[in-house]
Amino acid sequence: MSVDFNVLATPGIQGLQPYQPGKPIEELQRELGLTKIVKLASNENPLGCSPLVAEAINRALPQLARYPDGGGFELKNALARHCQVAPEQIILGNGSNDVIDLLAMTFLAPGRSAVFSEHGFIVYPIITQAVGARAIQVPAQHWAHDLDAMAAAIEEDTRLVFVANPNNPTGTWHGQAAIEDFLSRVPAEVIVVLDEAYFEYSGEAGGSDGLRLLGRFPNLVVVRTFSKAYGLAGLRVGYSVSGADIAELVNRIREPFNVNSLAMVAAVAALQDQDFVQRSRDINSEGMAQLVAGLQALGLEYIPSAGNFVSVDMGTDAATMYRKLLAEGVIVRPIGAYGMQRHLRISIGLADENAFLLECLHKVMSA
Ligand SMILES: *Cc1c(COP(=O)(O)O)cnc(C)c1O
Repeated sequence: MSVDFNVLATPGIQGLQPYQPGKPIEELQRELGLTKIVKLASNENPLGCSPLVAEAINRALPQLARYPDGGGFELKNALARHCQVAPEQIILGNGSNDVIDLLAMTFLAPGRSAVFSEHGFIVYPIITQAVGARAIQVPAQHWAHDLDAMAAAIEEDTRLVFVANPNNPTGTWHGQAAIEDFLSRVPAEVIVVLDEAYFEYSGEAGGSDGLRLLGRFPNLVVVRTFSKAYGLAGLRVGYSVSGADIAELVNRIREPFNVNSLAMVAAVAALQDQDFVQRSRDINSEGMAQLVAGLQALGLEYIPSAGNFVSVDMGTDAATMYRKLLAEGVIVRPIGAYGMQRHLRISIGLADENAFLLECLHKVMSA
């Protein structure tokens, strides 16, 4: 007799669909044997990362047999200086996804609820369901978070509200005044997780800086990452900044060594190279302009984005276009799982990568 392990999983896990990451370059290479492949699927930094990172990692290699500093002293201090907060206000994570999961595990459980937006970052519904909490998904407005409706959707048992600003995969964003106004309407005992994964890119468009609101809102947790503008997605390191009281609670369940030693030295080095971040921003603005001009020329509608990606309305079932682009050697991201069947999300690449994508799009659209 075989055991049905599915019924043994927790109710939250039983109905869960796993996260679908962007297709790795090597996988497409194995499948199609293509030589030229351009990946614009995971909002990675096309410039790579600062050269200071490789030096720092090399210096740390002799210590690989040692456990990392579980308290993250060096990185927390570097971040505290960078963010002008106290080290006790920081939670380090194995990617910011880890921090989001830890916040959910700390404050959510069966009998409690979390509020997030339709088309919001998919990690929020996944972790809410995994911990057995109830999801309150608020309809988006023109693809963006409807902050008024989100504040109004908060119920008695709501413990967390997730706001991605800018949001992935829509790229939509709200300015500082709108975020501030939203926070002033959220009850003081409901925690707002403000996910600013694209903070370094969104300033130009007028995105928020949650750190400046921490003093006024003790229920605010600002989440940021080294995976995007800092170009360290492969190392997995992210963090949050909040009141020290919230950080202390979350740290009770954090794995003692959740961030590895190479990730921590890399993040410290990356913080020191703000010129690299500025170059990344510049390349992104130029690439965004190039891409949207090309999309317009192809007659495609897109959602204006403050991130390093743009979601494009393919006007038809985007999954088919996705597969046709794969055959040409371009990996983008289908976002049907976000309730966006007609859209493809395209990350901004280097000029020649963007040009190749546009060329392939033109080819598959006219075929
Ligand atoms: C990419 C992304 C993250 C972070 O990912 P990590 O690599 O886990 O730091 C968090 N939130 C949003 C909205 C993202 O797009």
